Amino acid sequence: MNAPLPVLKNPASDSPLTLDPRTYERGLGCVHCGLCLPACPTYVMTGHEADSPRGRIQLMLGLSDGKIEATQSVREHLDLCLDCRGCETACPSGVVYHELIEETRARLAATQTLTAQGRLMRRLFFNIFVHPARLKLALLPARMLQKMGVYPLLRRLGLFKMLPSQLRKMEQMLPESGRLWPRRLPSETQHSALSTQHSSVTVGFFAGCIGAVMFDEVNRKAVELLAACGARVLAPRVQVCCGAIHHHNGAHHPAEEMARRNIDAFVPKEGPPVDFIVTTVAGCGAMLREYDVLLRDDPPYAQRARDFVSRVRDVTEVLAELGLPEMKHRVHETITYHDACHLAHAQKVTAAPRKLLAMVPGLTTVPLPESDMCCGAAGTYNLTQPEMATQLAGRKLDNIASTGAATCVTGNVGCAMQIRSEATARGQALRVVHPVELLHRAVFGD
Ligand code: SF4
Ligand code: SF4
Repeated sequence: MNAPLPVLKNPASDSPLTLDPRTYERGLGCVHCGLCLPACPTYVMTGHEADSPRGRIQLMLGLSDGKIEATQSVREHLDLCLDCRGCETACPSGVVYHELIEETRARLAATQTLTAQGRLMRRLFFNIFVHPARLKLALLPARMLQKMGVYPLLRRLGLFKMLPSQLRKMEQMLPESGRLWPRRLPSETQHSALSTQHSSVTVGFFAGCIGAVMFDEVNRKAVELLAACGARVLAPRVQVCCGAIHHHNGAHHPAEEMARRNIDAFVPKEGPPVDFIVTTVAGCGAMLREYDVLLRDDPPYAQRARDFVSRVRDVTEVLAELGLPEMKHRVHETITYHDACHLAHAQKVTAAPRKLLAMVPGLTTVPLPESDMCCGAAGTYNLTQPEMATQLAGRKLDNIASTGAATCVTGNVGCAMQIRSEATARGQALRVVHPVELLHRAVFGD
């Protein structure tokens, strides 16, 4: 049994916003140096100390101590945070900022009455987005209109402008084409004929929920590439949503339950675990790597959660480690690479995708200024904070335009939808693809 943790919070505080002492301690690590300020997208845009990591940490500690009140203004400064974790990469003191903001948000949510629109969005997030079959059903009418060719006309006529702002943004982000009913991945894929070595590696493939529906082709191509590297790929049917949407919207208990189910799926109590748990969606990967913190107070799962986390990888890490077969097909394109926050800052994966893209014959890569600054997607942020999200997307698109590249490559479904939809809204011609799509083309020729 662990020794009791020291109580670091103000003992006089009985605020419902009092943080867990372990989280509170994260905030005490801040030495106010300010090195995180230029890395913080909201501070860069507003120049306001309360919109910076340093300022928000002081607000959260003050709330926890009961020294300041959760006024509308304080809530707005905290709500504006993207939880992009750019500040964590910049911080020399190792402040784990996301634990502070996520716990504070959960505590604030418990004291707050949602507006009617807030309740509707929460129902959509929790009851539809995280269930692939329900999401497919919800998207079916739009997909049918796309197949019939009338959807672009409805967009041009401005029909969707009548929707409430958040639903309008969701509509904007719907990819312009897709299957009527996206197929599930096979539950098992053996190494393919292309693999020169039959590696003994077994990969557990985490499909995601929005990713599995909106970007099912990316997942299919990722599985084919992994098999071409010699891996056996399992996609357990019993896997569920990673829990990120719940966790980031203050619903920690459902997120914990999802974590337990995914641990059971990939690291079963009986039978061998998979070697790697792989995803193409950076947002999911970041959440999967948090399961050890999420379940640290759950004795039956705490150790298994640590084991699970040690196996989580982004797909590019495993492809780089196993080694792709020969890339026989040239890809004549000029691209630029956008670092998804949940890949670069949350998972520290920046080298593997660049290394793989550099191997693609014919491909020209132009460096992107501010490549690791958030594009404004940030999970459901672009739905809840559309103004700041659009400003950040505009900054990203200006940077992309400055490279002259016609294609932006990024490893996160949320970034892809945000950058693509905002480019369309601005009339900027831009293709946005996942690294896996270019690698698949180089290996398989499609
Ligand atoms: S998580 Fe992102 S938006 Fe929030 S304080 Fe850190 S850098 Fe700024
Ligand atoms: S860089 Fe780290 S220590 Fe410095 S102000 Fe930011 S959070 Fe605090």
